[in-house]
Amino acid sequence: MPAPDAATVAEAAVAANAATAAASTNAAPSAGAVATPALAPGAARPSSNTPAIAAAAAAAAAAVAGQQKPFAEVVKDAKEQPGFFNLYSKEEKVWLEIKPEQFDRPFFLQANRTHGIGDREPFRSPMLRSYIVEFHRLGSLVQLIARNSQFFATAGTPLARAVRESTSDSLLSAVPVASQPHPEKKSILIDANALLLADIPGGSSALEAAYHIAYGFDARNSSFTALHNTADLTGFAVSAHYSVPKLPAAPSMTSPSHSAPPAHLEDERSLFLGYYYSLAKLPEAMTPRVADDRIGHFMARRWDFSSDSNAFPEVYYVKRWRLEKKDPDAEMSEPKVPIVYWLDRNIPEKYRETIKAGVLEWNKAFEKLGFKNAIQVEVQPEDAQFSTADARHASIRWVVRDEPGAFAIGPSRADPRTGEILDADIEIEDGWTRVPRRQVSEQFPPRVAQAARVARDTTFCEYGDVAMDELAFALDLLVARGEIAPDSPEAEKYVLATLKDVVTHEVGHTLGLQHNFRASTIYTQKQLSDASFTTANGIGGSVMDYNAINLALQDEPQGDYVMHSIGPYDYWAIEYAYKPIAPAQEKEELAKIAGRSGEPQLAFGNDIDAGFGGSAEGMDPQVNRRDLGSDPLDYATRRLKLSRELWTRLQDRRLKPGESYELLRRNFLAGLTQLSNAGMVGAKYVGGVVYVAQAHRRRPIVGRQFPFAPRVCAPPDRGSIRSLQGRRRVERDHSRHRPVHAHAGRAACDARPADERQRGDPHRGRRVQANQGQPRLPPVRAL
Ligand SMILES: [Zn+2]
Repeated sequence: MPAPDAATVAEAAVAANAATAAASTNAAPSAGAVATPALAPGAARPSSNTPAIAAAAAAAAAAVAGQQKPFAEVVKDAKEQPGFFNLYSKEEKVWLEIKPEQFDRPFFLQANRTHGIGDREPFRSPMLRSYIVEFHRLGSLVQLIARNSQFFATAGTPLARAVRESTSDSLLSAVPVASQPHPEKKSILIDANALLLADIPGGSSALEAAYHIAYGFDARNSSFTALHNTADLTGFAVSAHYSVPKLPAAPSMTSPSHSAPPAHLEDERSLFLGYYYSLAKLPEAMTPRVADDRIGHFMARRWDFSSDSNAFPEVYYVKRWRLEKKDPDAEMSEPKVPIVYWLDRNIPEKYRETIKAGVLEWNKAFEKLGFKNAIQVEVQPEDAQFSTADARHASIRWVVRDEPGAFAIGPSRADPRTGEILDADIEIEDGWTRVPRRQVSEQFPPRVAQAARVARDTTFCEYGDVAMDELAFALDLLVARGEIAPDSPEAEKYVLATLKDVVTHEVGHTLGLQHNFRASTIYTQKQLSDASFTTANGIGGSVMDYNAINLALQDEPQGDYVMHSIGPYDYWAIEYAYKPIAPAQEKEELAKIAGRSGEPQLAFGNDIDAGFGGSAEGMDPQVNRRDLGSDPLDYATRRLKLSRELWTRLQDRRLKPGESYELLRRNFLAGLTQLSNAGMVGAKYVGGVVYVAQAHRRRPIVGRQFPFAPRVCAPPDRGSIRSLQGRRRVERDHSRHRPVHAHAGRAACDARPADERQRGDPHRGRRVQANQGQPRLPPVRAL
């Protein structure tokens, strides 16, 4: 039969894509752009799984059905790269070979962002999406289908059928078959350009959300920049072009809805993003470990309809790496497969040792469980033939942006069926290199507060920015006190210690740990002021908190400034997730581990407890994103004193020749940031509640164990609120730049849960009577 030439296939595919774009309400480029004949096949890929899209693509496939060239002719003179999926490339064209046994078999698809545009948007995380996918043959069409694995039921039962009938898969891409079957292998070829040079990660939508400009994906100017193939991973590095024909004109009047385009493009109508697609072998399903809400693990959520014995079908599995002892009977054994973090070759040499040390801190927790060298660190060689963005190399990468902060993020991707973490890619912004120099060369505007951007997302992490803010304040103060010189080896030492803490924090996320914002309360101020204590114990219960820097007041002894290792909570959380336990004992053993949640050193409160943007969930005064010590109210007071000290010293500071007024401005703002944070910490003492760690929040209350207890403030509450408001109001003498606090009011709060207050005071009734009905007042403190 006659074989169509490439142009015929292209036309059919373009026609299909034009039809799908017209049928789809969210096709990435505009329909007009897709219909342009000059565009290559795959100019727009279906981005939803509506029947119209499938029908249009199938019609295109049918048009070329039976007209494919022989296999050998298609790949004539092409370079073959054998691997998970065999690849054939010739100039800019790539074909992917699918064997008969590779159809309808699940594998793992992961998309990473590898190149940005100098802003944190449109993709803040380097890890974008991951799916369990299958290649499915529909006549002469090959579909890339994302299988829905959220619901499940025991295989072979009517409920398993009901699950299939009640849920939908998603179509990620579809292409016509590009060759006749191979004479012996019976495999076929598909056009990888048409399959993957498409907006699978949804960059168009992300750009529109960030800049309110309808950038469309442009397949003709997108390309593969590298191909990698091994027995279990086929990888594609992609340069993805997005463009818009014209930018919206600026409104004649200021409009809040008008957004500026990306700031660092030579032509704001065009930009390239970089993606890395991993098509990887899916491991045999690991036995999942059920999560416990008394410990903060990231979780894979599924709905198990196998049985109706539970009130809710949801099940939550701990996200964790597969870690098994090489010698299960040995007390201490290397793991069969270690968790290896690759330091990307783009990390400056001077920071690599610090980063490595931050990663390896976690081995201490695994050694307690009998694992030797569970975590390992390697550096990607300059001539490496792999990308750290692939799904086989957990990694840490460096990124430069225009932001003066030091954002760090530790995402991971897991098998949705079991919670097994399959890959993790941490990214750290370059801001660290400039913190000490900021003392003498202030050139950045103050960092925009991130709070407004924080969605209700427990995976969101801004510890890098917070730690850098803390570090900048601490260095400003220590320099102002004359304790260290700016740009000195001592200043550099503080930077590296803080960077190591941030790395350990982000690696903790990639081991499966959520934030723990209560951990900073386990030690008293007296302990924190004792250097021998902090050297031995650190400054908090967990590196997964945003621990404030431990700054002494004037003439106070100084303990360690930052966390130098993991804390007692971290050991506990790792134990729950990774302790090797025989299946028969698992339920009982896990209950025993989680049952320690009442121990003071294991205090836990997550992002929801800390609240998002002032919502009602963030009412617990002990759970704050940025505090330190057993008494957060006292912490807030101390920070006010330190800010005042910094400002007072600022009055007498003389600028050296060449120094900018910006330095004074930044010092003032550093104190103001502390003032704002102290106000937020203190405000929770008015009408807040303390969540009780031992209680499961969604389970029945046992005995007198309440899930939370009111935090009572002395009447009249209006007075307390006024005092807090007063503290946040700064009156400035503009002529001398001398900030003056409003008079401090008085806030009186009982820090103990309500039931504890009642149980612990046998004379309560009489005292209330003696006070003529007024509640008993604890010692009054000024905030
Ligand atoms: Zn974090």
